[in-house]
Amino acid sequence: MNTPLAPPHDCPLCPRLVAFREANRAKYPDWFNGPVPSFGPLTARLLIAGLAPGLQGANRTGRPFTGDWAGDLLYATLLKAGLAKGVYDERIDDTLELVNCRIANSVRCVPPQNKPEPSEIKTCRQFLISELDTLPNVKVILALGKIAHDSVLKTLDAKISAHPFKHGVAYDIGRFTLISSYHCSRYNTNTGVLTTSMFENVVSKAKALAGLE
Ligand code: SF4
Repeated sequence: MNTPLAPPHDCPLCPRLVAFREANRAKYPDWFNGPVPSFGPLTARLLIAGLAPGLQGANRTGRPFTGDWAGDLLYATLLKAGLAKGVYDERIDDTLELVNCRIANSVRCVPPQNKPEPSEIKTCRQFLISELDTLPNVKVILALGKIAHDSVLKTLDAKISAHPFKHGVAYDIGRFTLISSYHCSRYNTNTGVLTTSMFENVVSKAKALAGLE
């Protein structure tokens, strides 16, 4: 099976993010501090598209959503849904494995203040395109947040105006179904924009759409 294109640990393509990476390497030399690779089997039927690594989460540990609040909710939900097995313990060498799903970020490097620039999203899209071109079994994409939703639409050459971001709404686009959720961030859960049951429901819906009942 082919492997999706992945950036090197010193990917030079986004100058602002490279500068932030270098500053973090100097400040936190024991952290991962590089483009965070996708996580999960290449045979996945469900691809979860995130936004970007969190500074003290994936940028520190080297695995998407690992070590921050969003990961606590995401991985607890995936374990409950049978889309993961093992133990999630906020570190890359826990025993967590994803089952029939894979996680890829829209932007692989941590951005300052968690806010990637449009040019950085565009530059990094080549790696998301490669995931969708290479993974043979992906049927459903679950986008976490509007930025990931829009980036997936651009990846699929689909119009944003025809597929507006709405929590829990699914669109058929070519051979894929795109369903999106409010991002499982601490801000969204603290403010009640996204509750645990809302998130569990959208993950269950994505799982069913992918034929993984
Ligand atoms: S965000 Fe993506 S394209 Fe930009 S430097 Fe990081 S890996 Fe390279």
